[in-house]
Amino acid sequence: PAPSLGKLTLHCLTRPWLLPRMAPGKTLARLLDQSFDDPRLAQLFGRYATYVGGSPYAVPAILSLIWQAEAAGVWVVEGGMHRLATALADIATARGARFHYDTHVTRIEATNGRARAVHLSDGTRIPAETILFNGDPRALATGVLGPDTSTVAQQTRHTDRSLSAEVWAFAATPNGPDLAHHNVFFRADPKPEFDTLARGQYAPDPTLYICAMDRGLPQPPPQLERFEIIANAPPLTQGAPQEPASCQTRTFRTLARFGLTFSPEPNQTALTTPQGFDTLFPASTGSLYGQSPHGMTAAFQRPTARTPIKGLYLAGGGTHPGAGVPMATLSARHAAEAILSDRTSTSPSRRTATPGGMSTPSARAAAARSASSGS
Ligand SMILES: Cc1cc2nc3c(=O)[nH]c(=O)nc-3n(C[C@H](O)[C@H](O)[C@H](O)COP(=O)(O)OP(=O)(O)OC[C@H]3O[C@@H](n4cnc5c(N)ncnc54)[C@H](O)[C@@H]3O)c2cc1C
Repeated sequence: PAPSLGKLTLHCLTRPWLLPRMAPGKTLARLLDQSFDDPRLAQLFGRYATYVGGSPYAVPAILSLIWQAEAAGVWVVEGGMHRLATALADIATARGARFHYDTHVTRIEATNGRARAVHLSDGTRIPAETILFNGDPRALATGVLGPDTSTVAQQTRHTDRSLSAEVWAFAATPNGPDLAHHNVFFRADPKPEFDTLARGQYAPDPTLYICAMDRGLPQPPPQLERFEIIANAPPLTQGAPQEPASCQTRTFRTLARFGLTFSPEPNQTALTTPQGFDTLFPASTGSLYGQSPHGMTAAFQRPTARTPIKGLYLAGGGTHPGAGVPMATLSARHAAEAILSDRTSTSPSRRTATPGGMSTPSARAAAARSASSGS
């Protein structure tokens, strides 16, 4: 729940064989260059760096653990990703939680170092002893949720941000190569694209991930199939805003070169840009994975569940251990454990289940888009 370089060093001192296996000081790209003769295999495995919003040329080699984990099995939520949210909401409601959907939180109130209340955009003040924030922690640090909580996650103000994306979500009939559920259309050489992104620019011919959501199921795909196309993009801290038209040209011209076209070709209402993600996830700079995973110590720099403000906790993709649904869920477990243990240590009476609490909807879900693999 709260890793540190000191703790890792101690751990390794008693298990010295771990050190060379963690390939300290080596980037993922370097490890892959040494591991494969065929550069296409290095390119394929290097793509896993983008699962956490990084470049294979800058993330630590230990991220090769991602494909080890993937090789152990990939999970699909029956009915789509949004079923996870609705299933959690059903369980919470059955236990007395109340959800306030389509409600923007404008401020978290804290006095004398203790969380007091949540303020909504309609002026409502909801008093609370315990507040679990699962937006991007940078929103607290930058004062987007008011001045009381700006001491939280201060490191997010100056650390680099992870990658953003341009995401198309649409229904169409595909023409061209036969698609699987997950497809990646690789450009010839990955390095120039990552170099371009690092400069805050867009490659004219990006690597594209396509999720063909209706493929790989027992029944054949319908005439109009659902698709999600993802291209990596620089976060707003680095990138000049792009015209949606240039994204459309880049994406569909690149796919046409592979012989793939869509009928009808989606229009720009189907596109979410880094600016769009920044609106959906306030103060995120469009970064989909919080802080940058670049560098050997990035994992130790993420905010953890406890904050300097009593009663205020963090969970979600911007918090340790990081982005992605499994890791965001793990961070929620860390937060739940911290809340329960802090209550037990401060409560004079026996712990009981407390009904109430609040949550807000995913604006992305409201926009009827769903996250899927391969980002
Ligand atoms: C295109 C795309 C593809 C992805 N693919 C995958 C994948 O295949 N596998 C995987 O594991 N992960 C994937 N991810 C990542 C995954 O979706 C996130 O890491 C995960 O959803 C993070 O969960 P969370 O609860 O932290 O935040 P979110 O799901 O972002 O939820 C936080 C919510 O809080 C809301 N919010 C923030 N501030 C406020 C406020 N002030 N008031 C009200 N509401 C607020 C936001 O609108 C948002 O709805 C993908 C992400 C994207 C964008």
